[in-house]
Amino acid sequence: MSNKLHIVSLGCTKNLVDTEVMMGKLQNFELTDDNENADVIIVNTCGFIDAAKEESINTVLSLHEARKEDSVLVMAGCLSERYQEELQSQIPEVDIFTGVGDYDKIDELLIEKKSRFSDSVYLIDGAERIVTGSTYHAYIKLSEGCNQTCSFCAIPSFKGKLNSRSLDSIAKEVEGLVKKGYYDFSFVSQDSSSYLRDQNVKDGLSLLIERIELIEGVKSARILYLYPSTTSMALLKNIAKSTVFHNYFDMPIQHINDDMLRMMKRGFGKEKTIELLNFMRNLPNSFVRTSFIVGHPNETEEMFEEMCDFANTFGFDRINVFSYSDEETTAAYDMNGKISDDVKAQRAQTLGDIAAECTLRSLKAEIGKECELVIDRESDEHELLLSAKKLIWAPDIDGEIYVNDQSDDEHALEFGKIYKAKITELIGTILTATVDNAQK
Ligand code: SF4
Repeated sequence: MSNKLHIVSLGCTKNLVDTEVMMGKLQNFELTDDNENADVIIVNTCGFIDAAKEESINTVLSLHEARKEDSVLVMAGCLSERYQEELQSQIPEVDIFTGVGDYDKIDELLIEKKSRFSDSVYLIDGAERIVTGSTYHAYIKLSEGCNQTCSFCAIPSFKGKLNSRSLDSIAKEVEGLVKKGYYDFSFVSQDSSSYLRDQNVKDGLSLLIERIELIEGVKSARILYLYPSTTSMALLKNIAKSTVFHNYFDMPIQHINDDMLRMMKRGFGKEKTIELLNFMRNLPNSFVRTSFIVGHPNETEEMFEEMCDFANTFGFDRINVFSYSDEETTAAYDMNGKISDDVKAQRAQTLGDIAAECTLRSLKAEIGKECELVIDRESDEHELLLSAKKLIWAPDIDGEIYVNDQSDDEHALEFGKIYKAKITELIGTILTATVDNAQK
């Protein structure tokens, strides 16, 4: 088999880590963007909500349309896992189906040319992965699965119960990546604040912080996907004390109305949720990101307005807005009081506008401030405009900063390096900054 591999990773950063594990197993292949001439095409799918499912199926079918005759098309990941029977009968175009249990066996599947769905959910533990998208930043998976029972979410039905990695396994992976030059890490899972609770450890993230801080070469870190009712004040104080972990708080709250939070089975009501958020907000140089769902069954206009008010006034830096997706196997699927698609679309638009406003306010507040940033690459705008991100920001989701590269050869700005900078202005939704070249 000649070996050109075209691989597509859809969905979340957890899925990306699994894609990188597959790439690690297929290092005998040459990676290619040219899907029409690839010998093997792998799509790591997302099966979370309707929009993601549609994107996954369309991606698989369009790659099939364009692929060369004797190539092999693999459908992997959450959508494949969730609908394994239906997809195998309805999409004969796919040669190999696999779910979320065999990422580290992808090489065997290609040799056997047979579909496989293992019972267990794969959790990275020492596998060599090909980190994509950056020379200094890597996502680190904390666990797989989830013990929460949010009314709208099907993830536990195909990712199973919470299964945490050991601290040793995580520390060993980070140490290995530091040796390769990585120094910025985002710790991810479905429910990060429950890390190690499946092993009866209450504040696993605080232990993680202590452990990661011991690793020389880790300069920057953040935790994504905190869950309100498992996020303790002790944890927030440990993050605030940390010299490595930023005051970066990503906590999807999904709603703020008490009755709706109860219907969503979120475990925490309005008051406690706001108490946590206020503590985060009042920490120095803090960055607070959240997500909201509009149109959950029985969401009244009043509940929606309460959420809009809160989103508009709390002072979030970034807000993701999702429309409720009616997912079988979830509690909400069997609820009455479904909201029409039109009303959902209106509410998503209204809250989306508020989210955009919040981002603009947060960006404007940066003007004139000094910060640490990392230069990623040349911008898409102009070769002399470099694309950077604030060191505290997570990659790809929090924004971009343009740096005007006035440097001479002696002081050339380097990609992947941390610089002190001053934010100068906001152009549209992109900040600009000047970097003191002499500081190198
Ligand atoms: S925390 Fe809730 S929304 Fe997130 S994966 Fe678990 S059940 Fe789904």
